[in-house]
Amino acid sequence: MKNDLIKKIIGLTVVFFMVYYFLILQYKNKSFILIYHRVEPYKGGYKSLYVSPEAFDRQMKFLYDRGYRTISLEKMKHNIEKNSIIPKTFSITFDDGYKNNLEFAYPILKKYNFKATIFMTVNAIGKKFSYPYMPEAQHMSVEDLKNIQDIFEIGSHTMSHPDLSQVDENIILAELKKSKHNLSEILGIEIKHFCYPFGKYFKDYEKVLSELGYLTSCTTKNGLIDKNSNVYLLPRIEWKEISAMSVKDFFNKLDFYIKIFFGI
Ligand SMILES: [Zn+2]
Repeated sequence: MKNDLIKKIIGLTVVFFMVYYFLILQYKNKSFILIYHRVEPYKGGYKSLYVSPEAFDRQMKFLYDRGYRTISLEKMKHNIEKNSIIPKTFSITFDDGYKNNLEFAYPILKKYNFKATIFMTVNAIGKKFSYPYMPEAQHMSVEDLKNIQDIFEIGSHTMSHPDLSQVDENIILAELKKSKHNLSEILGIEIKHFCYPFGKYFKDYEKVLSELGYLTSCTTKNGLIDKNSNVYLLPRIEWKEISAMSVKDFFNKLDFYIKIFFGI
């Protein structure tokens, strides 16, 4: 009787370690980029574009406590291209450049010593600006963008936030060139990263972006990062609040949840 119990315990332990070892092999060479929009209490429009400051703090703490640390998108690109993804490294991105990122996300990121990238819609700087089906929101000013650079790197999210799959080539070029140039003039820094508005990319995106001097670009496509990721079509994970999460959404991101749950 006692022997049976011991055998069962040994058997279960072996199975547990085999599963854990399998998960480590599966996930240790994968990384991820988080995508956020508004970090503030819900104010209408798409719920998935909001994360409350409390939930954001919980998410960052969860990752911090499991030993995850942020890296820049430039480092992420380097790791992908050198096939040397460092376990427990990830990047954080914020689209559009909302003032609430400064009010709520900035102090939380600072608390955990995390860094992130903000993709700024240039025409929205210092203004109230709205996107389809979303209530308007205040965006960061030039002063704000200058003051947050200890935590946030600034990237381009175009001038006017158009759907780049639907506009002429000359408009695409102007949006990409002008936003990079304007941001670097205003802020006195190099703009290295781009993010497609609405996640919509365009013909020859890779060639155009690299010729303009962008190192990476982010989509809204869901997925983890590995050595095969295209640095001009980087997938990102939208880690929703439980209240905004559907069953389908949960299963779509199961890979991510398993990875961070086991701290791999
Ligand atoms: Zn956007």
